[in-house]
Amino acid sequence: MPKMTVIRTKLHRSISEKWKLKSVTVSREPSGKYFASFLFCCENQTAEKRPAEKFLGIDFAMHGMCVFSTGERAGYPMFYRNTEKKLAREQRKLSRCQRGSRNYEKQKKRVALCHEKIRNQRKDFQHKLSAGLAKNYDAVCVEDLNLKGMAGGLHFGKGVHDNGYGLFLSMLEYKLEERGKYLIKVDRYFASSKICSVCGKKKAGLSLAERLYYCECGNRMDRDINAAVNIMNEGKRIFAECA
Ligand SMILES: [Zn+2]
Repeated sequence: MPKMTVIRTKLHRSISEKWKLKSVTVSREPSGKYFASFLFCCENQTAEKRPAEKFLGIDFAMHGMCVFSTGERAGYPMFYRNTEKKLAREQRKLSRCQRGSRNYEKQKKRVALCHEKIRNQRKDFQHKLSAGLAKNYDAVCVEDLNLKGMAGGLHFGKGVHDNGYGLFLSMLEYKLEERGKYLIKVDRYFASSKICSVCGKKKAGLSLAERLYYCECGNRMDRDINAAVNIMNEGKRIFAECA
């Protein structure tokens, strides 16, 4: 580091000698840990685009972040919930400490560490999930969400900010791109939840309380999965038009 002595670090990636260092940003977490983020300049590594055969549709879900057109759900693992319980416990302890006392400061650091762990676990989960999808599918179709509009708007404040769906999508996007694959964004006004994914008929309305999608054609499906399949089909259509 300029104007400083040599600092011991833990590197998370190997650095190629061909890369050119552009900048270093040092930050400090509330827990007291330091992080340095390195920006390098390197050759464009984006892969050649290739034909898409395996498609996946994803629908955002309030519980468990998202649902796939395969019928699977991406829920946070149980051991992440345990950290949340621990955080609540440590916060309760903090509220009983006298403000400004030595114990208070100690406890505050414990709470900060808990927050940091939850953040890291969440990021780890999002990285692993997006990496797996980018590996297994050629094209992933998602709703082009207006995140700001959604948090306060008609959509019941889907909790977008809480589980970092937007961050997950950006991870997914660059991971697909690196492999020459596609993230297809479907128009956010596309009626993904109202259309029957089997016969294509569109309902006039569907209340948020209706968790199952029923159709005259005999289709009975979880509403989120029905929406995910519609998003996939719409993505396929857009892809075919652009190709
Ligand atoms: Zn139908």
